[in-house]
Amino acid sequence: MSILKTPIEYLKGVGSFRGDLLRKELNIHTFGDLAYYFPYRHIDRTKVDSIQMLTSANEYAQIVGVLISLEIIGERRSRRLVGQVRDKTGIIEVVWFQGINWVQKILSVGNMYRIFGRLSFFMGKAQMAHPEIENWQTATENVRTSLEPVYSTTEKLKARGLTGRSIGKLTSELYTKLSAVDFPENLSAGMKQKFNLINRYQALKQIHFPVSQNEYHHAVRRLKFEELFFAQLRINLVKVNRHKTSQGWKFDKVGDLFNSFYKNHLPFKLTNAQKRAIKEVRIDTGSGKHMNRLLQGDVGSGKTIVALMVMLLAADNGFQSVMMAPTEILARQHYQSLLELLHELPVNIRLLTGSTSLKEKRNIIAACGEGDVTILVGTHAVIEDKVMFKNLGFAIVDEQHKFGVAQRAQLWQKNSLPPHILVMTATPIPRTLALTAYGDLDYSVIDELPPGRKPVNTIIKRESKRPEVMDFIREQIGRGRQVYIIYPLIEESSKLDYENLMKGYEEVKSFFPEPQYWISMVHGKQTADLKEANMKRFVEHDTQIMVSTTVIEVGVNVPNATVMVIESAERFGLSQLHQLRGRVGRGADQSYCVLMPGPKVSREAMERLQIMVETNDGFKIAEKDLELRGPGDIEGTRQSGLLNFKLANLVDDKLMLEVIRKEVNDLLDSDAELEREEHIPIKKYLIAQQGKTIWSKIS
Ligand code: ADP
Ligand code: MG
Repeated sequence: MSILKTPIEYLKGVGSFRGDLLRKELNIHTFGDLAYYFPYRHIDRTKVDSIQMLTSANEYAQIVGVLISLEIIGERRSRRLVGQVRDKTGIIEVVWFQGINWVQKILSVGNMYRIFGRLSFFMGKAQMAHPEIENWQTATENVRTSLEPVYSTTEKLKARGLTGRSIGKLTSELYTKLSAVDFPENLSAGMKQKFNLINRYQALKQIHFPVSQNEYHHAVRRLKFEELFFAQLRINLVKVNRHKTSQGWKFDKVGDLFNSFYKNHLPFKLTNAQKRAIKEVRIDTGSGKHMNRLLQGDVGSGKTIVALMVMLLAADNGFQSVMMAPTEILARQHYQSLLELLHELPVNIRLLTGSTSLKEKRNIIAACGEGDVTILVGTHAVIEDKVMFKNLGFAIVDEQHKFGVAQRAQLWQKNSLPPHILVMTATPIPRTLALTAYGDLDYSVIDELPPGRKPVNTIIKRESKRPEVMDFIREQIGRGRQVYIIYPLIEESSKLDYENLMKGYEEVKSFFPEPQYWISMVHGKQTADLKEANMKRFVEHDTQIMVSTTVIEVGVNVPNATVMVIESAERFGLSQLHQLRGRVGRGADQSYCVLMPGPKVSREAMERLQIMVETNDGFKIAEKDLELRGPGDIEGTRQSGLLNFKLANLVDDKLMLEVIRKEVNDLLDSDAELEREEHIPIKKYLIAQQGKTIWSKIS
């Protein structure tokens, strides 16, 4: 057995008690885990600070000076040992609260010491509590040239003596037991040379115990590369595997429906991005392999028409399609637009939702089974077990985050082969991230808006300008337009948020009283039916104002709405604000988005909101969001687990990731089974990490 599998308590200095803590607090179970527990910084022990130069920016300091006084002061609980150390530039106070008698015994006033510890400042004066203290004489005899590692730790561990620095004693002990044999190289010699990477074992040693900053940087670079490389490789292997093994329906002809729609019924010219997306789907579905594709496109980029055309392609090949939306309103909207666009073509479109009458439902299910329905639009109702098809071949899923594994499994049951799947999402995800996060899916992007769109005009208004905002709303309603007012309700149960929403609603009502004005309100505490009913009133223009939490975020289309007011805007993420803004600007009229920050907004938050004012481009906004918040928060990537890197970070290491992605593609293109001599280390490492399963599926 590899020494790396040894349980952590067997390491000298650990034992069963600390072993338990390391397991629970830091998820360190074995020698191997500790070897891969990297320090977050290093302290330069070779550098001596001068007291005068210390500021609160110095977290730690190392001083060489003479102990000029040492005395016990205070009684009982406040009893402490206080000394003063002087160098050429000033005096620093050192203090001990514990072990007082022992410390007092080993130190003598008048001697020269080297002290090291965490700095604090009291009334502008530098202070060190419980410093490491060493006689200067002995200290110079064992001069340390290396950088000392500091590890992140927890309060519980600190209480048991495992501070950020003392964990270094453990890693140091551990590395005396390890050698290059324990960390066989896992990259090819060619790659190491090409990218100027140091060896794996050397990198591991150096990331803990570098002798210079330069060594440290080389170590980090090599280990980051390794981390990103294997993540990308695994993702690509999953995809290659899927392409190889999963059989799918073959749509091998482009027929009358598709062609006649394209020639005679298309209401506008497709954008190049739309054409590209359709083509990508056509190639996939014609290959005989199962397609699992993500179609990403900003709000208003025209995903619906792409969906429609690929469903016609399915119909031309004798297959039925389903189109699934997360809410009834959206399903109905899709249904309406498909009816309008396709009314002159011989396709039978039906709508099935939770509120379809039982009789109608029976009728639809029968027609689906007979093959009389070409396209079935609806909510999750369309994939209930009762709904059987004659020949289902395609499924469109609008807004992926509402579509889980269970639904997918249900779809799989509907025919002898699973239908091709196209998941459409309007959440813009930066390309760097998408290619890794969704690397196992095929991916199309519509990165171009139809021509002639009027960009939404975005403005920030502080609280003092509220009356002005209300006047503006009144004026827009006077012109027959409609308005959204959105409140944050981050967790739908949050009491304070809920109260704010209600207060806001009352306030809006006082500005816009019935019967001249009518207001809809929608929030998460309402029943689904009530929500639907309130939204419907707004969609049908029975109400002019929609007061709501973010529940309307997903997809509603009310082209007559021209104003989006967002209250406490600083509490939303940029991508979320962009989604909300996308609810307006859908009709012919100029639209507006008014961001109203709360009273306690910080400068950073204001700068963030400013980005919304500056651009309407969802991808730019998503890039910014990623920079500001880190990849952990981007919708949909949180649970993927693909992005939990130890060292790498998709924002800072974007360029490295791009290089690696290319390297991985080339590698698999030239040697898909990793059989070549020089690729053996890579394959061995993969198998050691994942077991043989990933591999046996592939070869
Ligand atoms: P989304 O991608 O947000 O679902 P939609 O498919 O609802 O966008 O399209 C938004 C609007 O743009 C619709 O009214 C649609 O008819 C229109 N549209 C889509 N593609 C084009 C195009 N190529 N040229 C002009 N208008 C288009
Ligand atoms: Mg849409």
